[in-house]
Amino acid sequence: MAEAASQRMGLFSNKIGLVMGVANDHSIAWAMSEALYAEGAELAFTHLPTPSGERRVKRLLEPRAPKLILPCDVQNDADIARVFQAVRDTYERLDFLVHSIAFAPPAEIRRPYVDTSRAGWHMAMDISVYSLVAVCREAMPLMPEGSTIVTLSYFGGEKVMPGYNVMGVCKAALEHSVRYLAWDLGREKKIRVNAISAGPMRTLSSAGISDFDQMRDHAAKKACLNRNVFPEELGSTGLYLLSHLSGGVTGELIHVDCGYSIVGL
Ligand code: NAD
Repeated sequence: MAEAASQRMGLFSNKIGLVMGVANDHSIAWAMSEALYAEGAELAFTHLPTPSGERRVKRLLEPRAPKLILPCDVQNDADIARVFQAVRDTYERLDFLVHSIAFAPPAEIRRPYVDTSRAGWHMAMDISVYSLVAVCREAMPLMPEGSTIVTLSYFGGEKVMPGYNVMGVCKAALEHSVRYLAWDLGREKKIRVNAISAGPMRTLSSAGISDFDQMRDHAAKKACLNRNVFPEELGSTGLYLLSHLSGGVTGELIHVDCGYSIVGL
């Protein structure tokens, strides 16, 4: 019975994807990877090229034994080029890409936006926004028509969320990048590019945001569903956006936040 289930055709059988942004089992990219694996996807991964980053990701992925687990600092063009060359050499194509990467120095996120340093602003924008542009450009030649790309955003890109500061401005730029990339990649190759605006989740990244737990508690109280989002719900929306089920959807931002963002209270 179990064997029959594991052999059934999944939504992503024979599909090859690259997941950028798994740091540990709390990562949103990991929730998506689990959902994708359950639907039969073949996945390649990148990790931040630090010894601890590499160790954590390799340990997590050990049972899955992916063919590619590659170091990649998205601030480094040579790293990005190496990743896509390795995907080309191994698979010859790429059907989908998950971009789940953001960073700003915690001190920059914690200070009022007006006090953001020039260097901090550039670093946050480079890692959290430009990286999507850079990876889309490299992915495009490898992607057949109908391929898909998904990135992760947060409501702080649409409204002022005190404490989110420079990262809110990055998310606004990321969300509009999604629209311009959807145009470019759609016209060029019918590739779709979408974003998920996720409700607050306890992850390595969110640990850098001051009063995060308070934000999370507040979000649960205000949300229509009176709770915070579950990782599996981000995973399943990822499946939808990355699969043919969302065939006519591109340049879109889907809120997976239990309805938090529609409430005016
Ligand atoms: P996470 O820490 O698990 O993931 C962030 C990833 O970014 C890590 O894998 C990290 O290695 C990677 N990264 C940082 N700098 C990098 C660089 N220079 N090069 C390559 N990779 C780099 O945290 P997460 O919460 O899963 O974050 C994933 C995405 O989801 C981010 O874009 C984040 O802003 C977004 N998001 C998170 C929340 C939340 O509450 N956690 C809510 C909405 C959106």
